[in-house]
Amino acid sequence: MNKNIIYLNNKYIPLNKAKISVLDRGFLFADGIYEVIPIYNGKPFRSQQHLERLERSLKNISLPSPLNQTQWFNIFNKLIKKNKASIGCYHFYIQITRGAAQSRGHAFPENIPPTILVTLNKSTKNLPLEILMQGKSAIICDDIRWKNCHIKSIALLPNILFSEQAHKADSEEAILIRDGYAIEGASSNLFIVKNNTLITPPLSPYILGGITRDAILELAKLNNIQYQEQPISEAELKNANEIWISSSTREIYPITKLNNNPVANGKVGPIWQRMIKLYRDACNS
Ligand code: PMP
Repeated sequence: MNKNIIYLNNKYIPLNKAKISVLDRGFLFADGIYEVIPIYNGKPFRSQQHLERLERSLKNISLPSPLNQTQWFNIFNKLIKKNKASIGCYHFYIQITRGAAQSRGHAFPENIPPTILVTLNKSTKNLPLEILMQGKSAIICDDIRWKNCHIKSIALLPNILFSEQAHKADSEEAILIRDGYAIEGASSNLFIVKNNTLITPPLSPYILGGITRDAILELAKLNNIQYQEQPISEAELKNANEIWISSSTREIYPITKLNNNPVANGKVGPIWQRMIKLYRDACNS
């Protein structure tokens, strides 16, 4: 992938030639949504589910859907071809904003076309099993985000601050606590294993309904791994047998250290080891 070709508002152009207006509402107000779709050997994984979530995000911010499924898939296929990305792991980053009006003003402008961006990027976070077997660290943070975290909004300042805090603590992720309950990661969903049962918080406006989360629950069901969608208290998190985080780019990471304390015996757990294999088989099938 020497010259990265991207899609911007109906055009396929090199990334370093792409420009948007300083009046774009994404730039001014973070007035937009995004989506990330992993690609395994040229095949977008669960693209249907990602596009459905994209539609829901658009609806939630009252932005009319600019493209239909056929048009999206056409863009995806072209980008894979133009970037010679049919072998290996990549992901699409899609961002749609409410476009650029004539002047800056909070209320929605009328008759302005949205800004549509799709980039194709090499995935670097889906790590070899040997590395994941060493486990990852996480810290706990107070969830200061708003009450519409189910929208995949580009307004990510709190998430960025959490991620920086985690990074400074040599940790992979910040696990967010709201009203005494562990909600999700700053950029991932959360799972624990307690007494051989996989538990993840139920869908609500406080979490982003992850596509990886759904895939994990489906795989658990298919493979007779007991699971429950139920709230996880901070105490349950701290006493879990296993902790995982999931996202489209990181797949499933085992968290073996929480706030510098070992999770259970500090080693990756047996249920994670089973699930990561099932998940990778599904991605590559
Ligand atoms: N929660 C948050 C806050 C996220 O940012 C992400 C990843 N973008 C997820 C959950 C995981 O979602 P997915 O599995 O669809 O990547």
